[in-house]
Amino acid sequence: MKANVSADWTDIGFGVDIRDFLDARGHKLGIFERHFNNTGERCQGGAILFDGINQFDGYPQWDVVSFDPLTIKTEIKCSRCGHRGWIHHGKWVSR
Ligand SMILES: [Zn+2]
Repeated sequence: MKANVSADWTDIGFGVDIRDFLDARGHKLGIFERHFNNTGERCQGGAILFDGINQFDGYPQWDVVSFDPLTIKTEIKCSRCGHRGWIHHGKWVSR
């Protein structure tokens, strides 16, 4: 499947930025999220896929309560450094 990302990162607080993960037709599949790890280096885990996207059946998906402002019910945890938190009302909520 071809996929694109939006060009710009959006700062949502606590050093966390997000950007859209779009398919080739511009439909929003999820987001990418980047942050700083314990040693102050920029880190990014895998895509945060929104629940109900058929082509990603079998992958972890996140339960979206609201798209605008973005609220994701499920906790986001980085697969690389363990950084974790939530996105509520378009802002990062630290654990
Ligand atoms: Zn990380």
